This record gives sequence, structure tokens and C-alpha cells, in this order.
Amino acid sequence: MKQLCVMIKPASSMCNMRCRYCFYADVSSRRSIPNYGVMTDDTVTRLMENIYKDLSNGDRLTFAFQGGEPTLAGLSYFEGFVKAVKAQPVKAEVSYVLQTNGILLDDILTHENIF
Ligand code: SF4
Repeated sequence: MKQLCVMIKPASSMCNMRCRYCFYADVSSRRSIPNYGVMTDDTVTRLMENIYKDLSNGDRLTFAFQGGEPTLAGLSYFEGFVKAVKAQPVKAEVSYVLQTNGILLDDILTHENIF
């Protein structure tokens, strides 16, 4: 059985805070493209294809969402992501991890059962 963990930055380097100690704001500001915006549906589709081609039924897969602030991608992004996971023909045991500053959590978590 395989175990795979994939880190995803659905809102690129965007964040709704500006902590003085944030290393990532500094790092991303020095890049030629500091911010790629919210991940598109097409990228999610290609991401699923690349990940699932190496998995079998019963393998364990963790998606870890990070930023910047990942909840800036919006609830529709996460709903679409989970829908894409559930549509995969390979049935892996999927877990989700969200690293967040918490500001938008009410908007995300008041929608029951998105994961
Ligand atoms: S919440 Fe996190 S990503 Fe956002 S500015 Fe603060 S340390 Fe950086």
C-alpha cells in the first residue's frame, strides 16, 4: 500500500494578513511572478491525473492545503476539488489537511460535509 502526501497552494502566495515575521511574503515578492492567483479547474484536473495514475485502490493519499492563505481560494474551489477526488476511478483513502490563519474558517466550515 502506498502513502502519498501532496502539498497544494490553492491561492498561491495570497494572504489576508501581513505578519511581520512572514518569510513567505518576502520570498514570493522576490519571484518573477509573485502570485499565480487561485488554482484553475484545469490545473486541478491535471493535478488529479498526475497523482492518481500511480495509485491503486486502498492506497492512502493526503492533500495538505497551504498558502499564503489557502481559504482565499474560496469554498467553491474546495467543493470542486473534493468533487474531482470523488470522481476518480481509483478509490484511495483520502485525508485533507488545512494550514490556515483561521480568518475565513467560518465561511468554509459552516458548510457541512464538504470533505
Ligand atoms: S498568515 Fe501566514 S502566510 Fe499570511 S502573512 Fe501571516 S505568516 Fe504569512
